[in-house]
Amino acid sequence: MSEISDPEYLPVMESFYTIQGEGFYSGTPAYFIRLGGCDVGCVWCDVKESWDASQFDWFHVDEIVKEAVDSGTRIVVVTGGEPLMYDLSALTRSLQAQGLQTNIETSGAYPLSGNWDWICFSPKKFKKPLDEFYANSHELKVVAFNKSDLKWAEDHGVKMTNTAQLFLQPEWSKEKEMTPLIVDFVKRNPGWKISLQTHKYMDIP
Ligand code: SF4
Repeated sequence: MSEISDPEYLPVMESFYTIQGEGFYSGTPAYFIRLGGCDVGCVWCDVKESWDASQFDWFHVDEIVKEAVDSGTRIVVVTGGEPLMYDLSALTRSLQAQGLQTNIETSGAYPLSGNWDWICFSPKKFKKPLDEFYANSHELKVVAFNKSDLKWAEDHGVKMTNTAQLFLQPEWSKEKEMTPLIVDFVKRNPGWKISLQTHKYMDIP
């Protein structure tokens, strides 16, 4: 099946209980649900195998949520792919009914759906984000692939709310080159923090 419009069913590429490696919740145990499908097209994407949703089976939200509950987690991170290609209202309703915290990681390229305890907005140059994410997100995470991305990050940061957490993260393959630039940027712009992909250093998913 490649497309189902019923929000009770979602294409799951993989799901697993691990440690959130990046951003505000870095170091926190979390159950990840990675939905298949993305048309944002980041050249440096490290999950290109997620792009084609037709490869993945669709599961009922009750089945997805049961596995999350059984893992023992308190926090669920819904990611992709681009998870907001789908209506996520049924998924978050079911997760929250089980007492689980709902976090999402999104490029902001599709309309917000679902009820989220934490929205990590990670805009990409390759597909313009929607304006609603600046006001509604708790966290801005910009992946820096080259020097011009620092200015691009600032342009997004000024649109966020006063309470939003701002993170700059070096793209993994450019980590050696970008980290010193990010360190310098954060020292000059103390409203920002550094996010590292600590799960890759720990060699965990
Ligand atoms: Fe990859 Fe995420 Fe970019 Fe989609 S938005 S191409 S999944 S990095």
